[in-house]
Amino acid sequence: MSAQRTLSIIKPDATARNVTGSINARFEQAELRIIAQKKIQLTKAQAEKFYEVHSDKAFYDSLCEYMSSAPVVVQVLYGDNAVAKNREIMGATNPANAEIGTIRRDFGQSIEHNAVHGSDCVENAEIEIAFFFSGLELVG
Ligand code: ADP
Ligand code: MG
Repeated sequence: MSAQRTLSIIKPDATARNVTGSINARFEQAELRIIAQKKIQLTKAQAEKFYEVHSDKAFYDSLCEYMSSAPVVVQVLYGDNAVAKNREIMGATNPANAEIGTIRRDFGQSIEHNAVHGSDCVENAEIEIAFFFSGLELVG
């Protein structure tokens, strides 16, 4: 196994419900280190750019509206197999289908308001990290 970086976002439904610390405890318990972190509020245009890959989906406009509706915490997680490990800890996209004990099962509200984002592969992780952070902000 090799050490990787992945992008994590704590989404508006979770920041609104004041559970960012509870969610981050899950990552730390799984030996993922938060090596960069900031709380920001995306503009709708920024959310549209970030989720451009989904621009043909019926849920795209609603997703971008939601992601820009309140602050989010964007962060970089680092550790062995971080991309897949994060996806496992997050659980399935729809909280109703997510395994018991996963973040989305425990903190998600709906398929759209599902508490967290995580990169889906190493290549996209590096692209998504660069969307939010400069190299100087990745402090290890
Ligand atoms: P994931 O976040 O698990 O990688 P996707 O990349 O497929 O899932 O979708 C991106 C985000 O879009 C999801 O996390 C969720 O917030 C939203 N989303 C996905 N599918 C739907 C849907 N059918 N209806 C509404 N929102 C959705
Ligand atoms: Mg995805």
